[in-house]
Amino acid sequence: MNDKPFSDTSYQQFLSEEKIMGSKCRKCGALALPPRPICISCLGSDMSWTQFNGTGQLAAFTCISVAPPHMAREGFGRNNPYVVGVVELDEGVRSVARILGVDANKPDQIKVGTSLKAEFLEKGEGPDKHTSLVFRIVPPRS
Ligand SMILES: [Zn+2]
Repeated sequence: MNDKPFSDTSYQQFLSEEKIMGSKCRKCGALALPPRPICISCLGSDMSWTQFNGTGQLAAFTCISVAPPHMAREGFGRNNPYVVGVVELDEGVRSVARILGVDANKPDQIKVGTSLKAEFLEKGEGPDKHTSLVFRIVPPRS
């Protein structure tokens, strides 16, 4: 696994194996998700792979009713908005992803700080298969 380039292609390959892999700078320890070949903190290029456990908290969100074409094809839009959030992962890295388990028509019920867990959303078949990283609200413990 260590010989993979720190690219979006490698990131996608790991996602299809249901692994969330980012890069870690060997020099300063900064993490990046998706992985980057150059450290965003010290600009070093000595990186290693690190696996994220996929849990975190909602840091910010937006409800999207003007869908980009690939989402519009799935039926999202003005009458069926969806939620995209900034997720603060437990490892301290922020990632932007779709948030599931929330009602995009009721943004007042979506709370920043809510616990989230990663899910792997698969679309398409065969060579068109694409896995995206999404996050689902973890129901509060009762
Ligand atoms: Zn660094």
